[in-house]
Amino acid sequence: MVCELISVGTELLLGNIVNTNTQFLAEKCALLGLSMYHQVTVGDNRERLSETIRTALKRSDIVILTGGLGPTEDDLTKEVCAEVMGCALVEDTHTRERIEEFFRNNIYKEIPENNWKQAIVPDGAIVLDNDNGTAPGLIIEKFGKSAILLPGPPNELYPLFMKKVFPYLQKLQPEIIRSQMVKVCGMGESQVEDKLLDLISKQENPTIATYAKTGEVHIRVTAKAVSEEAADKLIKPVVKEIKKRFGDFVYSTREDETLEMAVVRLLKKLELTVTTAESCTGGMLASRLVNVPGVSDVFREGFITYSNKAKRKILDVSKGTLKKYGAVSEQTAKEMATGGVFATDADVCIAITGIAGPDGGTEEKPLGLVYIACYLKDTVNVEKYQFKGSRDKVREQAVMKAMDLLRRSILDNYC
Ligand code: ATP
Ligand code: MG
Repeated sequence: MVCELISVGTELLLGNIVNTNTQFLAEKCALLGLSMYHQVTVGDNRERLSETIRTALKRSDIVILTGGLGPTEDDLTKEVCAEVMGCALVEDTHTRERIEEFFRNNIYKEIPENNWKQAIVPDGAIVLDNDNGTAPGLIIEKFGKSAILLPGPPNELYPLFMKKVFPYLQKLQPEIIRSQMVKVCGMGESQVEDKLLDLISKQENPTIATYAKTGEVHIRVTAKAVSEEAADKLIKPVVKEIKKRFGDFVYSTREDETLEMAVVRLLKKLELTVTTAESCTGGMLASRLVNVPGVSDVFREGFITYSNKAKRKILDVSKGTLKKYGAVSEQTAKEMATGGVFATDADVCIAITGIAGPDGGTEEKPLGLVYIACYLKDTVNVEKYQFKGSRDKVREQAVMKAMDLLRRSILDNYC
């Protein structure tokens, strides 16, 4: 079934408010397995609204309109929609009583005259009680199509939609949508897509979509089927194939598992303790790890060694190394990781040193140059990166790569 969204309101066209209703509804419709080809925003104008509704009803089975259900002159949605669909307007006694009730419980005891306008509904429409406002939601069913009219304020729309419209749409569209995520890090989006090209080009059901995030790529496999079991059956072999193709680059297949969660899970499983030694990231790596509940089993100490003096004092980086190679160098990163392990007796230490910018770059050591070292089992792996972007972006990428290096070093040694 094809569903279309119409957002009504001149303030949306002027950019005065952000169209969060569309995002909310689009996500829910996708979850319901409805196809969505158009989302339209139109101002509070009778002719243009009428034309927009007419077009939507021609090309879509379900049209959801939000906004313009209020009591004021510029609220036209109900009147125009009823006119387009050839419905007379009649008073709904039940809604009239609800409006009275609403004002009785409200601080404004007087009922403004124009509020009665909200008790007028298209003849034959299904009336959806709005528990947070006076304008009810309305469903007009005609010519095998459904127009669903909902109030604009999100605090009225969201609960009304979830309580009344979601189940209604579920009945219209018995197929459901299920999806599974495969999260990959250590590879760029185009590399990921290259490896999936044949699967993506022949995709139908399930579909495969990739989403690039900082330092990682999410691959979503989505299937449409009559039941959850049937959808899972379609998804499973595709996820298996993707996992086979990406091997250790896959860090999780759980929707809500972040990279730091996966790293902590791995450390816990192998009963390994970790220390962090950070320069340019200033504790961001430690902070990401500490985001994970229960991290105290594996993380005891994190160092921020920003100055050379701190690197020497806390991590025992040698004066000679700092002088000869500089603070941002492979040698310093190595000594930081080694020093971190010896200072804390942890099994692993991950160290980051780099030039985050915006100042401080040279030709030899440009902005975004970052060394990440991982000490594990008497060996140190060092990786050199040349990140692009702002100071924040460089630091964020460094943290992602550090967590990934930690993860890969552990897998190489233990799995
Ligand atoms: P009211 O009874 O408040 O007039 P309404 O159904 O007529 O409600 P509008 O007048 O179009 O809706 O919008 C009322 C308010 O709802 C807007 O000022 C805005 O805060 C919010 N709103 C409307 N449409 C959207 C949207 N698409 N996304 C987010 N918020 C919206
Ligand atoms: Mg209004």
